[in-house]
Amino acid sequence: MALSAAVLPAVLPASLPEVCWLEGAALPRALRADGADRPAGPLVLRLEGGRISAIAAQATGDAPVFDLRGATVLPAFVDPHTHLDKGDLLAAGLAVERNLFRAIDAVRADYPRWSEAELRLRMGFALRTAWAHGTRALLSYVDWAAPPHDGPGPLAWRVLCALRDEWRGRIEIVPCSLATIDLLADPVQAERLGREVAAGGGVLGVFVYPAPHCAGLVPLAFDLAERFDLRLDFHVDEHLAPPIANLPTVARLARERGWGARTVCGHNCLLSVMDRAHCDATLDAVAEAGIGLVALPYTNLHLQDSAQQPPFTTPRQRGILPLHEAAARGIRVALGSDNHRDPFFPAGDLDPLQTLALAALAAQLDDPLQSWASAVTTQPASLLGLAWDGLLRVGSPADLVIHPGRNAAEVLSRPCHGRVVLRAGQPVDGTLPDFRELDALRS
Ligand SMILES: [Zn+2]
Repeated sequence: MALSAAVLPAVLPASLPEVCWLEGAALPRALRADGADRPAGPLVLRLEGGRISAIAAQATGDAPVFDLRGATVLPAFVDPHTHLDKGDLLAAGLAVERNLFRAIDAVRADYPRWSEAELRLRMGFALRTAWAHGTRALLSYVDWAAPPHDGPGPLAWRVLCALRDEWRGRIEIVPCSLATIDLLADPVQAERLGREVAAGGGVLGVFVYPAPHCAGLVPLAFDLAERFDLRLDFHVDEHLAPPIANLPTVARLARERGWGARTVCGHNCLLSVMDRAHCDATLDAVAEAGIGLVALPYTNLHLQDSAQQPPFTTPRQRGILPLHEAAARGIRVALGSDNHRDPFFPAGDLDPLQTLALAALAAQLDDPLQSWASAVTTQPASLLGLAWDGLLRVGSPADLVIHPGRNAAEVLSRPCHGRVVLRAGQPVDGTLPDFRELDALRS
């Protein structure tokens, strides 16, 4: 295992003592429970029994000391928006698309080919990748196509729920349905969806696409969430063509139903092209309702304002929701991976630090490490309702990502290089799975 000795210079052995100090650790302000009260500059973390037992200015010498020499220390990542059921479909022979709805159609046409073995291979590959990058929890959607299913939920749902049990203690997997909003118009299908999502301990996720009738169906999602006591998640406004906007409807209903703290809206690309007054009013409504927002820069940069065929043109609209304006209103804002290596997006590796680096450029994030590392750690932890909020404090898990960079410039210019992941205070094998394993998808 490479422990990046050349980068974190020979300071971290493959196994750490049960009690030790990590000195010279740079902790972003927004990720410390004591926030800005602490003086600036590197700190010392005392690890004991898999947890942080002290955060201090100096080690006391009661245990071995390892000098990180200014390396950045982050809590392990939380990814609030992934599609493990579709991941690596390119390796299975599908083609990448430049249009959201063509990609949806391509994946739907492929469902009959999916088997438990194939899903386990693709999903397992994704989980091992996320683990190596330092992710401790993720939400994954599963396409919830119209039944008949032959069991509780689609096959991919059952496989994901089984993997959740197998991965417990390493990555906390939150399963989430992805049903088109039309499915809720059928009371029998809606009832079954709510019951099966609840039985799987999942989140009720629906896709609200831009059609005039969809806003009228959104109340049904809240009805179902209330009935089965479920968190709600919307794929909403993933387009750049006003006037059809569904986020305002979701925000109004979330406020009226008192469900905002349990509601998350992903994509919201439309906000980026709304006129200023309409955008401001929508964000005000989202803030008032308490809804969380998730931006997906990788996929949206690929799919939005994309020419469908040659001659290709350079996009002018980039489809990133107004992150600054949302954060300024106190809205919980997170960044997610979205699709990886499937018809929706040709790359992606489920690495929240790469996503942060991309968002820092795409949205011109100010002070991206100090102020925005929360978007891949504490904010998604809040959106998923995780037990640990992700803040670094005495008593929190020693589930950490240590990056040799000492500041945003160093970390975000080499996001993939040299990180060490600690789980329960011990370095984990950071080896990424080999793409050649996926060759079996074609056999
Ligand atoms: Zn998505």
